[in-house]
Amino acid sequence: MARVRVLVLQHGLGALDYAVPDGMGLGPGDIVEVPLGPRRIVGVVWEADRWATREVPDAKLRAVAARFAVPPVTAPLRRLIEWTGAYYMAPPAAVLRMALSVPSALIEAPTLVEYRLATEVPGNLTSLRAAAIERLAGRQGSVRELARHGTVSEGVIRGMVKAGLLTPIAVSPDVPPPVPDPDFAAPVLSYEQAVAAEDIAQAVTADAFAPFLLDGVTGSGKTEVYFEGIAAAIRSGGQALILVPEIALTAPWLARFAARFGCAPVAWHSDLRGSERRRTWRSVATGNARVVVGARSALFLPFAKLRLIVVDEAHDSSFKQDDGVQYHGRDVAVMRASLEQATVVLATATPAIETQAQVTRGRYVELKLPSRFGGAQLPAISTIDLRTDPPPRGNWLSPPLVAALRETHVAGEQSLLFLNRRGYAPLTLCRTCGNRIECPQCTAWLVEHRLTARLQCHHCGYSLPVPPRCPSCDAEYSLVACGPGVERVAEEVARILPDLRVALVTSDTIFSPARAAALVAAVEAHEIDLLIGTQLVTKGYHFPDLTLVGVVDADLGLAGGDLRAGERTFQQIAQVAGRAGRGSKPGRVLLQTHQPDARIMRALVEYDAAGFYAAETDARRDLGLPPFGRLAGVVVSGEDAAAVNLVARDLGRSAPRSDGLAVLGPAPAPLAMLRGRHRVRLLVHARRSVDLQGVVGAWIEGVKVPASVRVTVDIDPYNFL
Ligand code: ADP
Ligand code: ZN
Repeated sequence: MARVRVLVLQHGLGALDYAVPDGMGLGPGDIVEVPLGPRRIVGVVWEADRWATREVPDAKLRAVAARFAVPPVTAPLRRLIEWTGAYYMAPPAAVLRMALSVPSALIEAPTLVEYRLATEVPGNLTSLRAAAIERLAGRQGSVRELARHGTVSEGVIRGMVKAGLLTPIAVSPDVPPPVPDPDFAAPVLSYEQAVAAEDIAQAVTADAFAPFLLDGVTGSGKTEVYFEGIAAAIRSGGQALILVPEIALTAPWLARFAARFGCAPVAWHSDLRGSERRRTWRSVATGNARVVVGARSALFLPFAKLRLIVVDEAHDSSFKQDDGVQYHGRDVAVMRASLEQATVVLATATPAIETQAQVTRGRYVELKLPSRFGGAQLPAISTIDLRTDPPPRGNWLSPPLVAALRETHVAGEQSLLFLNRRGYAPLTLCRTCGNRIECPQCTAWLVEHRLTARLQCHHCGYSLPVPPRCPSCDAEYSLVACGPGVERVAEEVARILPDLRVALVTSDTIFSPARAAALVAAVEAHEIDLLIGTQLVTKGYHFPDLTLVGVVDADLGLAGGDLRAGERTFQQIAQVAGRAGRGSKPGRVLLQTHQPDARIMRALVEYDAAGFYAAETDARRDLGLPPFGRLAGVVVSGEDAAAVNLVARDLGRSAPRSDGLAVLGPAPAPLAMLRGRHRVRLLVHARRSVDLQGVVGAWIEGVKVPASVRVTVDIDPYNFL
């Protein structure tokens, strides 16, 4: 009897054996439906020698129920799923789920029905329906999606369909996306751009793994260069994937892509409608989707013939996923390219130390673009010493920065203020009793948001209206906002520079591609004089008339103190500085700091990235920190503090003690409480030669963990909270 081993999409189970029904003819990668108890679940046929499983005699074997009519999961993607599970210590089903993330894509569907608001809406509506209609303006989707967007039940949506308030629309699920034209509008490249583009294009057409670091200063034309790699991938009949850190910000990128290639690429992100996800998944699997731009989860799409992966802004730590399978998109991108025998380009003006180390080790080829395109100069960066030039009491902008904002405005140019803090004030304090208003579920202060008049927890989303009295001592008129967020800076600007038209750029205001596109249009039309934003403004924008960048608190990022605090601050400030003077007018950058003599500030002012990186790299090497050593974070969490502490103590007691490995902790996590769960951390620090996953796996296996407690492992952690 023929049998196959199937990796099943079921938490806690690995691979199971099944009998192959006569005539089904299954091979590795085939996506199948198999019986499990009374149910049927999805799985993928796998090479039998890759997973161990319990031996089941022929007589007891159940049969595969069906094979889905979709292309099989390719061998490189199967190897990627194995690697990701093993490296990040995640259950195989959890990784497989990322590759089979669209269950509806497996099934042939003649047409889908979606709904949108009818053109005629009567006036006499229940308030529930009226509110839903307001929220559904411009939306189209399934009953479930509309229920989510309208924040009503699916029953309400079905009722609205019956009442004719929503009109059904038949959607064809599988129209192939247009093919971008590699010769639509090729630019004339500068000499240095052409050299880099040629290297990438040649690698794309060769059938071999080729990793590149495309290290070019801001405005040097990195996008134009890797576009030539995409063109080569299309010409050779293959597919290209571009990963971007902030999918909501891709509007300008999409416009440039369309201008270069004549049509839009296929987009992949969490905000897609069900029918769009299905169409994308299927067209990626058939090879019809030639260019995909997406969030990190696009790395697990079933590409048929992937030739090129670009990681844009490759230094960005948002490529690291912090829940579920805790993978790093940049590293998985390199691994996928290596398994696909494809090219990978990490594009950034401020490469991560990990990436530079790979160049030094000779593993990645470095392509440099040392100057801005078209003769634009890099902006002059200088510091404002807040000790000698402090802002007036209760203000956050120093006199020299205010003067610069005024001058820039008078010259008809635009400015940007960067402060990486959403909301109005990070802390609300009671003057009477000293109470600091905290989140009831997290070890965190609530952040005041004036736009919504609420106090918000930035960790769990808890919020409440700003209370009129102190919740602790009931004193009236006693609560004071402490410290600035972007909303407070905007208020200050409105007070002292009332002529400036200001736009706030944070995830509260720019939460969709459409909002981002509207912002870009407004800035380009000079309807905005000043952008005030969080890290969202540091990325990707190209505004030729923006000539002044002010960093409100250059010291802010250093406060956290984790191993990457200096590097991250440097990258962030260098990126935001790179928004200035990208056109013909020269730019300038002013950094407000209490420590203008610190190495990092001097390096920024002197454009001495190499010196700064060298010093950081030496420090990491001396301490054996990544990339010269390895880390794994272990977090024990649960609602019952005693149970959490017990497990943490047992882990501490049985911690592996061996050469080249140390376990720090257990200690309460900085976020000792998150979403109502108590959290205790341990940190494993090992030499590079240590089999970290093996040691950590055996260690945790040996400790009894009750069902109410969770132990999660974070390999190569970026988050130390
Ligand atoms: P980076 O990503 O390195 O910051 P961009 O790719 O955004 O730089 O390029 C900066 C600006 O210069 C963009 O407006 C881009 O269109 C323009 N540019 C770069 N290279 C060329 C070129 N070869 N021909 C025309 N415009 C170019
Ligand atoms: Zn909270």
